[in-house]
Amino acid sequence: MTQANILLADDNKLVVKITSAILEDADYSVSVAWDGLEAINKAYAEAPDLVVLDVEMPKINGYQVCRLLKDDEYTRDIPVIMLTGRDQQSDMFWGLKTGADAYVTKGFKPEQLLGVVSEQLERSGEGREGQARTNVPSKLLEEAGVFSRVIDLLDGKLFESTILNDLGSLASVSNDYRETVRSVLEIIARVVGNAVGIVLMFEEEDMVVHVNRPTVDECLEGIKKKGFEMASEYGWEAESSERVSIAVFGEENVRPRQENEPERAYSFVHIPLTAQKKVIGILALCQVQSPSFVRDAQAILNLVQNQVTIVIDNARLYEATRQLAITDGLTKIYNHRFFQELFEKEFTRSDRYNTVFSLIILDIDHFKKVNDTYGHLCGDEILKGLAGLVKSCLRSMDVVARYGGEEFAVLLPETGGTEAFQTAERIRRAVESTTFMGTEQGLNVTVSLGVATYPSADVRDRADVIAKADGALYEAKEAGRNRAVFRE
Ligand code: GH3
Ligand code: MG
Ligand code: MG
Repeated sequence: MTQANILLADDNKLVVKITSAILEDADYSVSVAWDGLEAINKAYAEAPDLVVLDVEMPKINGYQVCRLLKDDEYTRDIPVIMLTGRDQQSDMFWGLKTGADAYVTKGFKPEQLLGVVSEQLERSGEGREGQARTNVPSKLLEEAGVFSRVIDLLDGKLFESTILNDLGSLASVSNDYRETVRSVLEIIARVVGNAVGIVLMFEEEDMVVHVNRPTVDECLEGIKKKGFEMASEYGWEAESSERVSIAVFGEENVRPRQENEPERAYSFVHIPLTAQKKVIGILALCQVQSPSFVRDAQAILNLVQNQVTIVIDNARLYEATRQLAITDGLTKIYNHRFFQELFEKEFTRSDRYNTVFSLIILDIDHFKKVNDTYGHLCGDEILKGLAGLVKSCLRSMDVVARYGGEEFAVLLPETGGTEAFQTAERIRRAVESTTFMGTEQGLNVTVSLGVATYPSADVRDRADVIAKADGALYEAKEAGRNRAVFRE
């Protein structure tokens, strides 16, 4: 075996003298660097088999040298042993952080040093299996070349830690899932120039695409198609790409293509987001205008992959938990508790801004009989169908909730009694003319509805509004059911 070349970097003559002697006695050939910059220079020029680095050195200290060597493709395989002056915890910590392979505390015994050296040489020899290292470009062999390389590497490090830090801070500030996804995309797209950032999440039924900024409709179509291809690549199955819904923020996010815009100069890079060994989505960047990315987009995606997965998965989990807490399990509409919350807010808002709102309470007629005749499961089917039907009769600002067993409540902001009564009538007619699933031939039911409004006579608090709607509902039942009653 040829003797190994060791680069020894230390500014202390005595240490250099002693250390070289120990190494040379053991038949290693030793080259000396007297400061950090020279160490990097020689690491490039001489391609040593191992580097021994002092921590404190002029120009660039040992940790910095180590980090640079470990960040550089030409030198990262060379084992680095740090010579720490003190046996300090912080030295160990920073040494590990910068990627040093081992330590020896100054004042070592010869066999201690030689033990670590031969161990490291053996380890790196096994890793390389006789493969020659990549040749270092000749400009790196000049001092100016080394300097600009050092600056590039430091710049890259700063860039990396900034972007990871920005992403990390999202985890603590944001609870809103969509808002989180949007912020993630913004941070990433910002660092790769004017790319469109895309997050594709595999939901239960749908694949949801989030896009961070205005883009042409054709591009969105391309993204959708691409997303579909990518999804099947990662094992997600949907019957057709028609099911992919695109969530964009603000209507202005989709716009027609401008005249001089290229039609299809997209370049795509993407990476899977994997949480608990399952692909939960895809992070992608799409360059619309110029054909290539400003920075190496794929490298950036690799860099942020873990952090992005954590941030998005957490936000998603938070959202799912929140949804679970406010949703009725059977009908998937809001539950009683959350309805009370919304109701209280609307009441306060109405007082403060002098606005009107109305409340409808709906109860299925003779529902007990339906259960008794066709069974409870069949009754459940009707409740589910009814939830969807009521929703379809409402405006987007209205909310419906499951109020009790077979009772539903509807809150209608900015709506007076007459209008609310009309809505109640619309619901009543819709139910009357609908055949619900549950039995083979289907089932028909009717509902009674009580309507109240606020402000109105004798109503002081929230309980009064509910009592009034309840009273109206009772009247509707008394009057023969399948009707709506409004109590002024
Ligand atoms: P009315 O016209 O006076 O409202 O008669 P009703 O039979 O609908 O009223 P009642 O209050 O006597 O009975 C309500 C029934 O609703 C009893 C209960 O079995 C049924 N119910 C309540 N919650 C559920 C549910 O989650 N699933 C099913 N299938 N039935 C339910
Ligand atoms: Mg009832
Ligand atoms: Mg009933």
